Amino acid sequence: MAFEGLSERLQETIQKIKGKGKVTEQDVKAMMREVRFALIEADVNLKVVKEFVKNVSERAVGSDVMKSLTPGQQVIKIVQDELTNLMGGEQSPIQFNNKPPTVIMMVGLQGAGKTTTTGKLANLIRKKYNRKPLLVAADVYRPAAIQQLETLGKQLSIPVFSMGTEVSPVEIARKAIDQAKEEHNDVVIIDTAGRLHIDEELMQELKDIRAIKEPDEIFLVVDAMTGQDAVNVANNFNEALGITGVVLTKLDGDTRGGAALSIRSVTEKPIKFIGMGEKMDALEPFHPERMASRILG
Ligand code: GDP
Repeated sequence: MAFEGLSERLQETIQKIKGKGKVTEQDVKAMMREVRFALIEADVNLKVVKEFVKNVSERAVGSDVMKSLTPGQQVIKIVQDELTNLMGGEQSPIQFNNKPPTVIMMVGLQGAGKTTTTGKLANLIRKKYNRKPLLVAADVYRPAAIQQLETLGKQLSIPVFSMGTEVSPVEIARKAIDQAKEEHNDVVIIDTAGRLHIDEELMQELKDIRAIKEPDEIFLVVDAMTGQDAVNVANNFNEALGITGVVLTKLDGDTRGGAALSIRSVTEKPIKFIGMGEKMDALEPFHPERMASRILG
């Protein structure tokens, strides 16, 4: 299960302080030392760990906490608050364009779960928001990716726009947006090419697609299992392209949690959705507060 190690260690640590009628600065220091180790072990970005420890410590040694009747509880509440803040605080909803179609670009490296997530997102947008999505197969370098999207579209009864592999992705995206207007599809979700590594060519292609019609969302799909690599990928995509949000996939696996806890802080872009399995309904809006509660038990 995701976050298992982190969860266990944090729970163990806060258990020690929970029932205390009196909490000293020494107690807080000792607790934060353990919290720090737990976060580092969970592969959380070092700068993020430092900032987190500093924020919690500053708040926890405040006189209103120390002198309160339940200082242990208060300290735990602070840890929970700061974990929530670390992951972005509020849930961040999809930005729909009030002049349809809303354009959503899906970007990411190969294997992260981009095509699967594209299908899941269309499914969620139709179900939850009652909209009519059009999927766009713009990964022309991998015929298998186009086929995969077409299969998902069939399975979901959601239309897929494709022009094979001989037409440029920019042309495909442009035509797809035109068709969406004609057919009254109010959301266009473009599955762009994935590569094994970030390269100039990929970024240029994504910028060219972005230039057709400023997307309302650019979602970067990253694999939670890859830890700090996912954070670096997010940072690079964000700097080159300006993403609007992250979808963190494979949180149903046994990820240590580093990506989930670091991405927001490092990129200042919210995690909007989490992938919780391979099935088409396994995509959930990301709720920082719920995730913090889950981690702290
Ligand atoms: P792409 O290359 O980025 O388009 O990746 P795919 O969409 O083809 O996904 C790669 C693999 O990851 C596939 O086997 C998916 O079923 C799997 N996958 C995607 N998202 C999730 C998820 O949230 N949880 C799990 N367990 N597997 C996922």
